[in-house]
Amino acid sequence: LINVPLIALIEDDPQLTLLLSTTLKGLDYSVVAAKTAKAGLDMIQEFNPGLLVLDLGLPDIDGQSLIPRIRQQNDLPIIILSARNQEQDITKALNNCADDYLTKPFNTSELVARINALLRRSFKIHENNREAVLTVGELKIEFSRRRVFIANQEIRLTPVEYGLLTTLAGNPGFVVTHRQLLLKVWGPNHVDHNHYLRVYMGHLRHKIESDPTQPKYLLTEPGVGYKLNVES
Ligand code: CA
Repeated sequence: LINVPLIALIEDDPQLTLLLSTTLKGLDYSVVAAKTAKAGLDMIQEFNPGLLVLDLGLPDIDGQSLIPRIRQQNDLPIIILSARNQEQDITKALNNCADDYLTKPFNTSELVARINALLRRSFKIHENNREAVLTVGELKIEFSRRRVFIANQEIRLTPVEYGLLTTLAGNPGFVVTHRQLLLKVWGPNHVDHNHYLRVYMGHLRHKIESDPTQPKYLLTEPGVGYKLNVES
């Protein structure tokens, strides 16, 4: 590693903080930690970390309302830890521009894998942006020329299908919520029209997937949204 990313934890459970910082330091990451939202905000300003792991259940300010405040000044990747296994919390956090989430109790190695993936992918996205091409398995998107290929065969997409695909491709490997997709592709008057997504995602899968009933690229995250799978 040329640049060791600094990872920030905002978590009020001291045992979990100890476990996570020990684990991450053992993997050569640098770690800073805060127990409250207020201390966490100061910490982010002071250290400008490369990634944030944020617990939603904090003693002073709800972690949820902290996300937009962090986003006002910093676009670092954010992984949410939620004790509440509720889709609304996850959806809200992702709509607030968190990048990924884990529900407690979770496996430390799972968190480490997500951190590694997030850092690797945000690096990859920057690389791909330069060339404006994204390749995942047999799927290739040439953003600059608005062309999409499967196994080197060009696929014809409608503007809506292309919009859906490129919105998912803007954050490869991560869930984009129904609301974010509807907002981006159809606009603010249609953010509740989830049925649009089912219909058009169906069209898109028929064009891109070899078996639309067993999608490899366009995965459903039930109750939350969709993602472009990059692990195939
Ligand atoms: Ca907590």
